[in-house]
Amino acid sequence: MTGVTLPAYAKLNLTLDVLRRRNDGYHDLASVMQTVSLHDDVSVALTEDGGIVCRCGDIPGDESNLAVRAARAFFVKTGIPPRGLYIDVVKRIPVGAGLAGGSADAAAVLRGLRALLRPEISRSELERIAAVVGSDVPYCIRGGTVLSEGRGECLTPLPGAPRFCVVLCKPAFSLSTPMMFSRIRAEELSRRPDTAGMLDALRRGDRAGVAARVRNVFEDVLPPEYAEVFAIRDRLLKLGAEAAAMSGSGPTVFGLFGDDMAAGSAYMELKSAYAQTFLTRFV
Ligand code: ATP
Repeated sequence: MTGVTLPAYAKLNLTLDVLRRRNDGYHDLASVMQTVSLHDDVSVALTEDGGIVCRCGDIPGDESNLAVRAARAFFVKTGIPPRGLYIDVVKRIPVGAGLAGGSADAAAVLRGLRALLRPEISRSELERIAAVVGSDVPYCIRGGTVLSEGRGECLTPLPGAPRFCVVLCKPAFSLSTPMMFSRIRAEELSRRPDTAGMLDALRRGDRAGVAARVRNVFEDVLPPEYAEVFAIRDRLLKLGAEAAAMSGSGPTVFGLFGDDMAAGSAYMELKSAYAQTFLTRFV
């Protein structure tokens, strides 16, 4: 086998809490993360020459690309002599959106290289390599419904969340993750997500309990000029979403719907105003 193509799924944060700033500059988080069906397609092929060539839609395929960084980390950490690679990413996940699109691509490259080169490493070793590439990459290797703690390297699998249809809507602007973290004063956050309550609702398969506990602390530090996020959130709720919140460090807003029809008509309505609107579901 010389090539594989893998889906790289987007994630959303059903809860997102920032617990503290650490001495190393990172933050300790607690987040219930969920994979959704919106995905990029990542193809990885071994080539004869020694370099890495990456095509990634409009995003540079140079050393700044997380897919390339993942390939480099794989060879360094496994000790496998670097091989020539061709990486092709069909991008569908919006960029700088809070949906971990770049991390998902990086995770797909790591999984692809493991399938192609068969190093004797366990999934947890692959997740340790993933953590070097970025905080959300270990989660993207794992996928599903997961409690993510620490900087994203402590993962606890959770019972699958009740099936929701999801409308994702990204306004025209992007938000920088470092800028959003710089606005957080963890000790001053007052309305924290009920993470323990969310875990309990997931264990009981309690849809209403899950919907009631959707919450992201980054909404509290959103600069006022980006208030359109709240307008989208309110619109999703008016259109019948059982819950709606910003994902990650934003600005994409997700709405959770129990009913396909309501999700479909909310999608149609928002799509006419926001080009980057997607109808998707939990996977
Ligand atoms: P997160 O939810 O993990 O904070 P995000 O969805 O906000 O991530 P990404 O779409 O992953 O953000 O992109 C963040 C930055 O990473 C962008 O500036 C982008 O140029 C860069 N980047 C590097 N590689 C990729 C990639 N393969 N796909 C998307 N963005 C990438």
